[in-house]
Amino acid sequence: MGAGPVDQRRPALPRLRHRRHHPGRPGRDWLTSTLDQNSNSSLDGAGQQLERQTVGWLRELFGLGPEHRGALVSGATMSNTVGLAIAREWLGEQLGVSVADAGTAALGRVRVLSGSPHSSIAKALSMLGLGRAALVPVPTLPGREAVDPAALERALRESPGPCVVVANAGTVNTVDFDDLRALAGLRQRHDFWLHTDAAFGGFAALAPEHAALVAGLDASDSVCVDLHKWLNVPYDSAVQFTRRPDLQARVFQNSAAYLGPLGENPDLVHLTPENSRRLRALATWFALRAYGRDGHRDIVERCVTAARTLGRAVADTPGLRLLAPVRLNVVCFTLAEPGSADGPAPERLAALADRMSADAFLTPTRYAGVPALRAAFSNWRTVNADVEQVIRALRNAVAAEG
Ligand SMILES: *Cc1c(COP(=O)(O)O)cnc(C)c1O
Repeated sequence: MGAGPVDQRRPALPRLRHRRHHPGRPGRDWLTSTLDQNSNSSLDGAGQQLERQTVGWLRELFGLGPEHRGALVSGATMSNTVGLAIAREWLGEQLGVSVADAGTAALGRVRVLSGSPHSSIAKALSMLGLGRAALVPVPTLPGREAVDPAALERALRESPGPCVVVANAGTVNTVDFDDLRALAGLRQRHDFWLHTDAAFGGFAALAPEHAALVAGLDASDSVCVDLHKWLNVPYDSAVQFTRRPDLQARVFQNSAAYLGPLGENPDLVHLTPENSRRLRALATWFALRAYGRDGHRDIVERCVTAARTLGRAVADTPGLRLLAPVRLNVVCFTLAEPGSADGPAPERLAALADRMSADAFLTPTRYAGVPALRAAFSNWRTVNADVEQVIRALRNAVAAEG
């Protein structure tokens, strides 16, 4: 693979602040449908070559080493599912069995430890036959969504055998980050597979001011990053990485006389849940080629600036309460309810969100037991004027509360 567009040696790509057409947006997806190539093997055109190059560029973008191999899947839920399927095979390897052949019964009870996992982790465990009950919650640090490494070590000590740890690099409520280096360090004393869900938090790696949040990501055995969120390509796109493509091929291999042998670098048909698949890498290839590292860093930084501006405005607005510091691109807040520990009724928040729905799309949530709203910034077009508009709408909506 030659030097990619995210390679530092390349001349800086133009900054495209106000471009009307994002190169990875629907135009390129149209091309994907028009080409209509099945990108699952070397038998059917150059699609999988393009995907391998794209995965290589993404690996560079997120600061992962060459040991990480990967493929594109339909979203972060599927990326987490693939990562945990490889983890499942690794658990079997520790016991001297292949789960792909013998089934999950060979594993006995599986434990998946995590501080604040995304809901898709439980869904993945259900799909993989490990069961939602396999998920063991681990206490988080006081007032945080990040896992408490000491509590995790206690849980590992109590675990009777090898287990799986899901690290969270960007929780959806407050964008909190587990200490990935501390978690990886625990492997010196305990046997576990480390899967990191960096669906959107992985993009912190692009901005020098925030890169420390994902320091240590490379040590993960498997990594999930969404592309249809902060990379701004159309829906149906995420990447999965792993250091154990051999185990991945054991899980997903689809051996048939007319398909190629597995070999060192298996065809994609042997690495992902789908057999036939559209060339979903194309939109990402264009986005990386056109914007490069600098362009995507610019998008990340503008979104973070917008979130911080909104966070300050929330903190300064009587009647509102910021529920967590703005660590990256999400503002989690609620209506101030002096004297009430439970916070406002969810219906009041829904009405507030409804009043400003023409200016902002806020999602309801619950943080530390308190009903709340979250504003998440990830759109490539976000500029300061947008956030000023949201602040005006928010203040008007609060004033209308009376
Ligand atoms: C969005 C998200 C997911 C699920 O992503 P989909 O692309 O909707 O499948 C998983 N984990 C985290 C942290 C997310 O933010």
